[in-house]
Amino acid sequence: MTQQETALVTGGSRGIGRAIAVSLAASGRFVYINYQSGIDAAKETLAAVKEAGSDGVLLPFDVTDQKAAEEAVAAVIRERGVIDILVNNAGIRDDMLMVWMKSENWDRVLSTNLTGFYNVTKPVVKKMLSKRKGRIINITSTSGQMGQAGQVNYSASKAGLIGATMALAREIAKRSITVNAVAPGFIETDMTDGLPVEQIAGTIPAGRLGKPEEVAAAVNFLCSPEAGYITGQVIGINGGIC
Ligand code: NDP
Repeated sequence: MTQQETALVTGGSRGIGRAIAVSLAASGRFVYINYQSGIDAAKETLAAVKEAGSDGVLLPFDVTDQKAAEEAVAAVIRERGVIDILVNNAGIRDDMLMVWMKSENWDRVLSTNLTGFYNVTKPVVKKMLSKRKGRIINITSTSGQMGQAGQVNYSASKAGLIGATMALAREIAKRSITVNAVAPGFIETDMTDGLPVEQIAGTIPAGRLGKPEEVAAAVNFLCSPEAGYITGQVIGINGGIC
């Protein structure tokens, strides 16, 4: 019998992260659900993970805090031996035109969306390398592929994540570890709540926003044995925007 795989989903308490956690649980993975402060939402995700037929653990830490990330990853590895699947999904936006953007607005977004990837991935990869097995999926964005006005900070962080994905994929491919990015367009979550949905839908070839589950399905596929030869790629899930 093969051992149950262990997954860590950052920002797994809500939105896309929750859908990924549930999808991975439905395909038999034990899921660590990271979040920063929203414990009620995280508990709802854990309940959904159990309902999907698997189990998991809440793992609160701030991905911008390197020490906290290292300690959390070390605790998971102590409990489970290895993290087979890492999904770097935690992310924020803080939109404004560049001329109004203060360095705090820049730093907050870059440190969550890009440095957060570094803080969590480094300790996870070290262990994956010794096990010669692993899947890393980074949730980037259409904004990182084509740029979005009002999102210079966010677009930079997500474009940086694409570069990091491609570079790390080359570094560790020989150890059977794949590193890919998934780039959603507009997806119905708290992050897009309050945006003019009708107006946005009109700009999307598919004519609608996407659902978190549609992103999760691609992530789940990238975690499967069948996807073992896919690495360093960016998969757009955007209804045809780019
Ligand atoms: P949500 O705002 O719905 O959820 C964000 C999640 O990230 C929450 O679980 C939140 O936890 C967590 N989080 C935020 N900051 C931190 C932090 N510093 N440390 C740990 N966890 C943190 O976002 P979405 O589900 O919409 O987005 C998920 C990812 O997908 C993001 O990377 C986003 O950039 C990307 N994306 C989203 C798109 C969309 O249209 N929704 C489009 C393209 C990309 P808590 O509640 O505890 O703060």
